[in-house]
Amino acid sequence: MSGEERSYRADALILGARPLGEADRIVRLLTREFGKLDAVAKGARRPKSRIGGRLEIAGRVEMMLHRGRSLDVIVSAEERSHRWTALVEPERLAVASLALERVDVLCEPGEPVPEIFDLLDSSLDAIAKSERPHRFVARFSLRLLDLLGSMPPAERCCLCSDMLEDRSWLDASEGGILDAKCRRPHREEIALDPEDRANFAALGRERGAGAAVEARPQAAAAIEALIAHYCARPLRVSALPGYAYGAI
Ligand SMILES: [Zn+2]
Repeated sequence: MSGEERSYRADALILGARPLGEADRIVRLLTREFGKLDAVAKGARRPKSRIGGRLEIAGRVEMMLHRGRSLDVIVSAEERSHRWTALVEPERLAVASLALERVDVLCEPGEPVPEIFDLLDSSLDAIAKSERPHRFVARFSLRLLDLLGSMPPAERCCLCSDMLEDRSWLDASEGGILDAKCRRPHREEIALDPEDRANFAALGRERGAGAAVEARPQAAAAIEALIAHYCARPLRVSALPGYAYGAI
């Protein structure tokens, strides 16, 4: 194998990191070209490490990697974003960490998802500039589900396909919105009126005409319920994770 084949470039967002041995770090990346992958940053925990200082959480980094036997090794890194100073503010950091975690949990390793890379990159920029970063959570999460093919329609019952009329209910275990005929009342269902459904649809729309950022409470609750369903386990952000989201 030639040296060229053993090295490759990647445009990467830093999803998280954890320590390896005495001075190294395993960094979880979402690369535009190769999807999610873990790579080793050798010596990154040494105080004077040049590479360590360029691998801040939520950063966008142009890097060169070298194929390793198990994990690839980061040999150089050039920062392409300077979000970290703005993201240190607690509310921004909390929302950025949540976005990083949702992408990590919902994206499979080794599958390129450039649209999700772009969504995460632009959302992190918006979060870093915002005085109200929580307003982005619902839209980001629903756009993520849409790009993963898991956004339910807002105008038809997900079981019988009839048009939804007045009242409807989000049933996360069915992955969609149900009408009165198909509904099986239970504690977790979330009632959605026509305005909530219109807001839900607008939150899921690509940027442009008809897209919304501000979520009505019931639409936001419906999106959170869907995210929890697809993540299929409690999210780690509030607990102390093996991977650190927010502080390497
Ligand atoms: Zn139905």
